[in-house]
Amino acid sequence: MKKEYLDKIMDADLVLIGIGSEFEKLRYRCEEKAIEALNELNDLLNGKNYFVITTCTNNILKESGFRNDRIVSPCGNLEVKQCTKACKGSLQELTDEEIQHIRKRADSDGEFHLGVCAVCGAPMTLNNVYTSEYDEEGYLNDWKMYTKWLQGTLNKKLCVLELGVDMTFPNIIRWPFEKVAFYNQKATFIRVNEKLYHMSEELKDKGIAVNKQSIDWITENDI
Ligand SMILES: [Zn+2]
Repeated sequence: MKKEYLDKIMDADLVLIGIGSEFEKLRYRCEEKAIEALNELNDLLNGKNYFVITTCTNNILKESGFRNDRIVSPCGNLEVKQCTKACKGSLQELTDEEIQHIRKRADSDGEFHLGVCAVCGAPMTLNNVYTSEYDEEGYLNDWKMYTKWLQGTLNKKLCVLELGVDMTFPNIIRWPFEKVAFYNQKATFIRVNEKLYHMSEELKDKGIAVNKQSIDWITENDI
């Protein structure tokens, strides 16, 4: 990361990070270079008070070593399965075997065999936003931690880092981040994106728009 950006992160008391589709070329697997970039970012954040939110469903935040109590994946991730009929109480953790199975099958027909619901006997499926009856209970606890953390950013020196987020789910990262940066007088907002890097009119004074692929942005340096 270039020093001018790193300085802004280091200068902040709190860092809010959004990780988007540039880190999710694959829905159920993580690209090595994406994990490496986020590992690097995680190292830079050592000792910082941060929270990371992602729209990715491939478990990338966990695989990159971010703290479990500082991440939220509202679109679901590769950890939990649910009943296809979304029975209450059907959520179950995926076993390592099942995760391997999903990652393998995703390359071919994408049909997963994850057993049946203990409540109603219907087939189980992945607990994510691409499931027709998405059970949002799966990320609720993490979401509560996230909103509580966000409340604590008011009037604090906040650096908002939006990395490679597209417009597929704008109400999860893009719009809320703009709002947080707009209302916090001490906020800096850095938007990095290969295509959708433009800054809104309201944020042009405190926002920095970077026209770059965000994995490259993290891993580039001044030397
Ligand atoms: Zn069921």
